[in-house]
Amino acid sequence: MERRGRGRRTQETETIARERIEILFAEARRAVETGRVDRAKRYVVLARRIGMRYNVSIPSRFRRWVCRGCGLFLVPGINCTTRLRPRRFVVRCQACGEVKRVGRKTAKAGARGARA
Ligand SMILES: [Zn+2]
Repeated sequence: MERRGRGRRTQETETIARERIEILFAEARRAVETGRVDRAKRYVVLARRIGMRYNVSIPSRFRRWVCRGCGLFLVPGINCTTRLRPRRFVVRCQACGEVKRVGRKTAKAGARGARA
C-alpha cells in the first residue's frame, strides 16, 4: 500500500534529480579536465542511474557528450575531436575511437543512433 519512494514522482524530486544530474556532469567535466578518466566515467554512470530512478531524462546537451563506446564524458579539445558537417556534428572519442554523429536538423543518417 505504501507507495512512496519508488513510484512516487513529485515536481520536487524531479527538480532535485535534475540538479544532481547537472552537478554530476559538471564534476565529470572537471574530472576529465584534470585527467581523472575513471572518475569521469563513474559520474556519468551515477547521473544515468539517478535519471533512471527518478524518471528524468539526461538533457541532450549532456547526453551528446557521453561516449557510447566507453561511457566517458567527452570534452572537446581534451578527449574528443569534433567536426561540424553540414547537417550534423561528428564527435570522436579519443579514448576508444567511437564516432558519434549528432544530428543538427533532419538527419537520415541515424537509423542506429539518431537519438543518441
Ligand atoms: Zn569512448
